[in-house]
Amino acid sequence: MTTPYLSLANRFVCDIPRYEAGRPVEEVARRYRLDPQRIIKLASNENALGPSPRAVEAMRVALKEMHRYPDGGVFYLRRDLAKQLGVTPEHLVFGCGSNEIIELLFHAFVAPGDEVVVGDRAFVIYKFLCTTFQARCVEVPFREQTHDLRAMRTAISPRTKLVFIANPNNPTGTRVSNEELDWFVRQLPSHVICVLDEAYVEFLDDPPPSVGYALSHRVVLLRTFSKIVGLAGLRIGYGIAQPSCIELLERVRQPFNVSAVAQVGARAALRDRAHIRRTVAMTRAGMRFLTDEFRRLGLEFIPSVANFVMVNVHDGDRVFERLQRRGIIVRPMRAYGMPQWIRVTIGRPQENRAFVRALRSELNGEA
Ligand SMILES: *Cc1c(COP(=O)(O)O)cnc(C)c1O
Repeated sequence: MTTPYLSLANRFVCDIPRYEAGRPVEEVARRYRLDPQRIIKLASNENALGPSPRAVEAMRVALKEMHRYPDGGVFYLRRDLAKQLGVTPEHLVFGCGSNEIIELLFHAFVAPGDEVVVGDRAFVIYKFLCTTFQARCVEVPFREQTHDLRAMRTAISPRTKLVFIANPNNPTGTRVSNEELDWFVRQLPSHVICVLDEAYVEFLDDPPPSVGYALSHRVVLLRTFSKIVGLAGLRIGYGIAQPSCIELLERVRQPFNVSAVAQVGARAALRDRAHIRRTVAMTRAGMRFLTDEFRRLGLEFIPSVANFVMVNVHDGDRVFERLQRRGIIVRPMRAYGMPQWIRVTIGRPQENRAFVRALRSELNGEA
């Protein structure tokens, strides 16, 4: 007889939804008996150029020391990154992806019954963590496909602890204007922490002065090595905030939450400016190509400033499934309440062309 664990579990655990990640290449290859080498994954906003070659080389060398625990204080990466950002090392905290920093913020600041304000089409992880931490998630409807900061300000109550703004947002690819953000940050009540999730900020050509906000206001920035430098598999991200906040986050993390390989790889990637420039250029060109093709196909899309774009294909689940059979993985958007839509990551030029070809023949009902 199997043991039923359900009766032993914390009640709220059953309410936590499962995060539906982009399908891994190997899984799709097994399921549809496809050659993994030929599968095109445009499902998780990864960097289609691959990781920075300089990061790969630095990590290869570091592998010989893997019998050692990592530096729990992340000394060298912290020093280099602080210098690049114009902050002190005490303004930074590192995590197993920036997703871990989100969790650390809940650990440090959110108690059961507290309120957390999010946009209704913002990155879903914020909402999921509210369930885990038994907080009340106050969902504010998006306006024109982006965060409605005025409405979010109105939603703040005396019980509000955190307000999340993903800028640019995933999955919509939209941003808030620098003026609106400035207004929001300046009138933030003193009992509220504004979390600016900037996973895609490096793709903006006029980013907000957010590091300045983190230094002088109750604002925490979340950044990641998963997108712009192409190290999603390594799991490393960071937070920027005033030292009094960082100090609290440091208390609630595990001692070795960032691996030694990740520290070395991230540090080398920071210096690889050429790889970052190539990534931005490829993304811009790919975005132009895809949106031109969507127009030609008469498909509605949400103009995006990130490295992915949402397009209305009328039946997102079906198109997702059909493209997958052809070896192209995208993301259906039902989980975000947009079942007609898919989200597609900008790939390399030949990947984008293959996606458009497959999409066109699907929409024309060709086998
Ligand atoms: C991809 C992404 C992240 C980063 O996640 P990591 O844990 O750093 O890989 C954070 N926020 C948003 C909105 C994202 O899309």
